[in-house]
Amino acid sequence: ATPTSIMVGTGRAADMGILFRKGQALQSLREASVIALDKTGTLTRGRPELTDLLMRPGFDEAEVLALVAAVERQSEHPIAEAIVRAAEERGLALVEPQGFEALPGLGVSAMVAGRRLQVGADRYLTQLGLSLDEVSEAAAALASAGKSPLYVVVDGRLAAVMAVADPIKEGTPEAIAALHRLGLKVAMITGDNRRTAEAIAAELGIDEVVAEVMPDGKVAALQALRARFGAVAFVGDGINDAPALAEAEVGIAIGTGTDIAIEAAEVVLMGGDLRAVPNALAISRATLRNIR
Ligand code: ADP
Ligand code: MG
Repeated sequence: ATPTSIMVGTGRAADMGILFRKGQALQSLREASVIALDKTGTLTRGRPELTDLLMRPGFDEAEVLALVAAVERQSEHPIAEAIVRAAEERGLALVEPQGFEALPGLGVSAMVAGRRLQVGADRYLTQLGLSLDEVSEAAAALASAGKSPLYVVVDGRLAAVMAVADPIKEGTPEAIAALHRLGLKVAMITGDNRRTAEAIAAELGIDEVVAEVMPDGKVAALQALRARFGAVAFVGDGINDAPALAEAEVGIAIGTGTDIAIEAAEVVLMGGDLRAVPNALAISRATLRNIR
C-alpha cells in the first residue's frame, strides 16, 4: 500500500469516527477472518439492572438486599452498581461492611452487621463447597432469558438468587449482520455464565461463544479462536480486555471504554456504536483495493 492511499483511508475513517492509530492496522483489519467481541460494555451497554430477587425460605427480601448492597457499594463492578441502585431506589439503609474482598471473576465477600456475606457467580459457590441443586432450575430459567444469575450466601447458607440484565446496545444487531455480510465469523468472549452468554449470542446471531472466561483468560480464548479460524480482530472496552487487544491481529477499543483499553488498541471507535466496526472493515477493503 502506498503512504498516500493509507492516508486517504485513515482520513475517511476519521470522518466516520474511526481512529486508525497506525496505517498498518488498515491492512491487518482487511486480513481478519474472525471478529471477537467482549460482551459487557461492548455488545451490551455495560449498565446492567437488577431484574430478579428470588428468596430462599427463611430469608427476608429487604434485609438481604440491604446486606448485599452494603457489600457491593465497595465494588466497582457494573453488577455492583446495579445492586446498589436497586437498594437505593427502595430507600434501604446501607451499613458499612468490614473486611471487604473482591475475587476477580468470582464475586465479593465481606462482614455486614456481624453477618458473613458472599455474593457472586455459580463457580464461586462451587468453590465454597455449596450445592446449587435446589436453585438450578430457577437459575437456568433466568440465564435462558439472557439474564445473569448471581447467588447470595449469608453466614454460609444460600439466601437468594438474583439476576441482572444488561441491555444490548442499539447498533449491535445491525453491526453483526453487516460483519456477516462482509464474510466474517463473529465470536463473543465473556466472563458471564455459559447459558446466559448463549442466550444473548442466539438473539444476536453470533457464531461462536467463549463463556466463563476468567479475567486473565481472554488472551488464551483469543488464541484458541485464531487456531480455529485465522487472524482475529478483537473489540473490547474494559481493563481486562487490554491484553487481548494487544494480542489480536487488530485491537479495536470502544472510545467510551477505559483508558487502558484505548491505549492497548490500534483502532479506536469514537462512540460506543458497533456499526463502526463493519464500517472500518469496509474502508480497509476499499482502500487496499484502490491501490492494486
Ligand atoms: P464480566 O466482565 O463478564 O462481568 P468478570 O470477570 O468481571 O466478567 O466477572 C465474572 C462473574 O463474576 C460475573 O459475571 C459475576 O457472576 C461475578 N462477579 C464479579 N464481580 C462481582 C460483584 N461485584 N458482585 C457479584 N458478582 C460478581
Ligand atoms: Mg467489557
